Amino acid sequence: MKFQAIKGVRDILPPESALWNRVEQAAREVFATYGYGEIRLPIFEPTELFRKSVGEETDIVGKEMYSESDPPILSDPKFIAGWNKVKELAVAYDPPLGTMGDESRQQILAEARKWLLAGYTSMRWSIEEALENLISLRPEATASVVRAYIEHGMHTWPSPVKLYYVGPMFRRERPQKGRYRQFYQIGAELLGPSDDPGLDAEVIEMLLAFFERIRLTGATLFINSIGDKNCRPAYVERLRGELQKVRDKLGADSQRRIETNPLRVLDSKLPEEQPIIDRLPHIADCLCEACREHYEELKRQLALRKIEYEENWRLVRGLDYYMRTTFEITAPGLGSQNAVCGGGRYDGLVELLGGPAATKGIGFAIGTDRLILSLQNEGVEVSSTPDVFMAWLDGSSYQEARSLASVLRGAGLVVEIPAKPLNPREALGLANKRNIPIAVVIGQNEVSAGVFSIRLLSEREQFKAVVANAPEIGRLLVFRALLERTLRQLAKRIPTAEAEPSFSKLLSRLEEQNMLPGTVSYNIRRAMEVFDRVAHNAAVNKDEMNTAVASALFALQGLSRSYGAQIPLPPQS
Ligand code: AMP
Repeated sequence: MKFQAIKGVRDILPPESALWNRVEQAAREVFATYGYGEIRLPIFEPTELFRKSVGEETDIVGKEMYSESDPPILSDPKFIAGWNKVKELAVAYDPPLGTMGDESRQQILAEARKWLLAGYTSMRWSIEEALENLISLRPEATASVVRAYIEHGMHTWPSPVKLYYVGPMFRRERPQKGRYRQFYQIGAELLGPSDDPGLDAEVIEMLLAFFERIRLTGATLFINSIGDKNCRPAYVERLRGELQKVRDKLGADSQRRIETNPLRVLDSKLPEEQPIIDRLPHIADCLCEACREHYEELKRQLALRKIEYEENWRLVRGLDYYMRTTFEITAPGLGSQNAVCGGGRYDGLVELLGGPAATKGIGFAIGTDRLILSLQNEGVEVSSTPDVFMAWLDGSSYQEARSLASVLRGAGLVVEIPAKPLNPREALGLANKRNIPIAVVIGQNEVSAGVFSIRLLSEREQFKAVVANAPEIGRLLVFRALLERTLRQLAKRIPTAEAEPSFSKLLSRLEEQNMLPGTVSYNIRRAMEVFDRVAHNAAVNKDEMNTAVASALFALQGLSRSYGAQIPLPPQS
């Protein structure tokens, strides 16, 4: 039997997972600069939490949650024994249940009921207990954040409380590109007594700063206000009234929503409903004075930050807890599933879940799967090629190669060490084939001289370094490799430069094309100068090496600011 991942869930493999890590890491870094701390939440919660917050009428809670009773009623051995007995009875009975006379049927059903009941009553758990303990895999995380906020008395913390989370969510949706049953979100929530529109604008600013950091291009921000408990009910009633008038022109879903949740009709994508929806009243015309002022101020605050947006009066978001500000961001290349982020204000949610009424909240959730898809469409990829191929020529040099590999790994390099000895030609051939930029070769001669040979494959250059200097040289090598990898990535944008074999020529080509900010090329050249002296066995002291490493680091940071997720992260050490 061959096992496969179940429908709608998938494995994320290297090298793609490296891009995921980059993106999540960038979120952590950007959010931290806005004062957000990570909250790690449970994957499952009481079902009731989602019913109450997200809302029973939503698709998410109504149809899509993965729920289970805890204790597991259906897998209780006593219940199963009773159930099996019923099945046995059904199979053993002749003629089949459907064709037997009424009296015999009543008899056998009574017997089956007796067995099932025996199963239930002798179970460890009562049915009530089991139902009270319904749990669900989380379909979203705002409810959990608010539950945690209340549970840990975070209203006594300095406000506002700023939290972010990263992790999987679960919804039993119809799978398609960009829509999965286990998908991932990066989200942030800001909770506190103030509902100042400046906070909404800052949350959006942070989100866009993150997109900027990972260089998501072509994203569009949509905003709307859906009013509050003072003005929304009147609008919903008006909408319901208008929808009643056109009921027979609507599809089954929208007809049902007239009663359950008329706002959701605005979400409809059915082509034949669009002209009808276009004529419905807009909420902007029904906002109360306070909500209107809040919305106007939000727009002023966005303008202050030079944030471009489009207003979309139909943006109501599916979940019950939103009020006033709602927003969504779409990205190109995703087809119909093009929303990469949704968010909004949820001022009543803390109170609804039993917390202090004064606490307001605003937040967003980014769909990481779609974000990654959009970046991939833009050609962003993260290399998973090792930095160094550490070849050893014979048994006597294996130990030395191993310990040198540890030193280089300690300095942050990705080192591949083969399991068997290779001759230099084989070693270089393999490194070349795998596109590994640096090969180190150690044999008996090197071991007895206390040196190792370094071959820069793209440069066709080889030099020897003293083993005692390995950590410093190792760090220089890391940055050399990172810079080379980055510049080669950028060179893909200029067809004639891509094949440029030498690093220094590649650098000049990119400079000619104005692809490197001035400080970046200055810093690369400073680092390269020291690196070249090392490569030519000139005397270089530790200070010079450290300065070169710092220059390379600045260059990488500068590149990261200009080119985002395509730039590899420098090592931590
Ligand atoms: P929501 O919690 O529905 O507002 O979703 C926020 C974001 O999560 C959306 O904009 C999507 O990017 C993403 N998302 C929601 N559902 C899925 C899904 N089933 N598969 C992939 N991404 C999803």
